[in-house]
Amino acid sequence: MSFEFGFSLSQHHRLEQRLSLKQTLRLRLEHAVITPRAICSVCRYALTESDIKIGWLDDRFDITTECPTCHARFIAELDIDEPNGNALVHFLCPQQLFHRVNQILKGRQRVGIGFLQTHPELFWNWIRHFGTYDLGRKAFVEWRASL
Ligand SMILES: [Zn+2]
Repeated sequence: MSFEFGFSLSQHHRLEQRLSLKQTLRLRLEHAVITPRAICSVCRYALTESDIKIGWLDDRFDITTECPTCHARFIAELDIDEPNGNALVHFLCPQQLFHRVNQILKGRQRVGIGFLQTHPELFWNWIRHFGTYDLGRKAFVEWRASL
């Protein structure tokens, strides 16, 4: 096998790894169904996604939302149905999501696809809010610059 374009073996390997991560991600996302779930435990009202978003607080630690009918507070969830299986994760607002990512990164600069995929709660919230890894990364970089 020859490596053209001046790639060294390790550069070539890294590029291949990155491409396969992107391809794997694309496949996962094409088949994933992400459904917000929030049924009030007090009055059984089923919150819509917009109810959930209205009920979030501007607080990086309190991730609850509010029932619009009885005002009880509880944590909404995302129900994930994807080729790798099913999962339920907490539904976070974008600011809470970014705070958590930032905390785990501990000052490291890049949020890689690999990093996100090893944190399912962060990963699915990222995709639910921004649609793609790249759009989320753009929003994250802007959020970080505004701190
Ligand atoms: Zn309620």
